[in-house]
Amino acid sequence: MSIAAERIERLHALAREAAREGDDDRAREYVRLARRLAERNRLTLPREFRRSTCDACDAYLVPGRNARVRTQDGHVVVTCDCGHQSRYPYE
Ligand SMILES: [Zn+2]
Repeated sequence: MSIAAERIERLHALAREAAREGDDDRAREYVRLARRLAERNRLTLPREFRRSTCDACDAYLVPGRNARVRTQDGHVVVTCDCGHQSRYPYE
């Protein structure tokens, strides 16, 4: 794993921690840093990262707190508090 990929993993963990503690602003900062790193190093963000973050506002999503999760037609639909929805196939 490259150094950049490791740093992204680390930022992901920090974002998750901050979000669980209710510090959404700090979580968002970590999410943005991780995105920027991925972009600069032409890395694809891990699937788990992509699924736990909002594409529109960079929030780290915690279902039941700042996101709603539903299943619909074989898809998982995640709605962020900002209103943005993302969907992916149910596995
Ligand atoms: Zn959002």
